Amino acid sequence: MPSPVGHTLAGLCGFIPARQRVPKRHQLKLLLASVAIANLPDADFLPGLLLGNLGAFHRHGTHSLIVAAVFGIFVALLVGRWQLNRIWWGIWAAELYASHIVLDMLGADPGAPSGVQALWPLSQQNYISPITLFAQFDYSDSGLGMVRTILSPQNFWGMLRDFIIMTPLVGLVWLFSRAFRERRVR
Ligand SMILES: [Zn+2]
Repeated sequence: MPSPVGHTLAGLCGFIPARQRVPKRHQLKLLLASVAIANLPDADFLPGLLLGNLGAFHRHGTHSLIVAAVFGIFVALLVGRWQLNRIWWGIWAAELYASHIVLDMLGADPGAPSGVQALWPLSQQNYISPITLFAQFDYSDSGLGMVRTILSPQNFWGMLRDFIIMTPLVGLVWLFSRAFRERRVR
């Protein structure tokens, strides 16, 4: 699975087309929300952290496309309070959440069972792409401890790889978003 760098850049891809839909004074909040949503499925580390085993619940229920759809419905209900388009923001939030699951499926994951429970709760089967784009990002190695594992050279190269793959995508989304806006203006 990719590092938080890869998911954060996916969040930036979500922010770029959405930023025109909010006033300038709210754009920083939107940027932070976009990055948080793109990383949100990995909140499943938190209960594991309390138990001293980071991976105890990782890549299970929160890494499901069904949960992504439910999250989209939740956001659609939430944004009505601010007179925003419920359907547009609901689809946006579901897509951004689902981007995390797709990226994880494209990441190396040698430990069985590989991949994510993309159809939980309908199925507990793990799914992974036959094509691997991203390196494995390790959060915990019993020999090294959590902090030294996260700061390991292997993770550094993984983050660099995520950056090299995702940055052109951010640029493309920005170009498309600008071209689309100019067409709308004309
Ligand atoms: Zn994940």
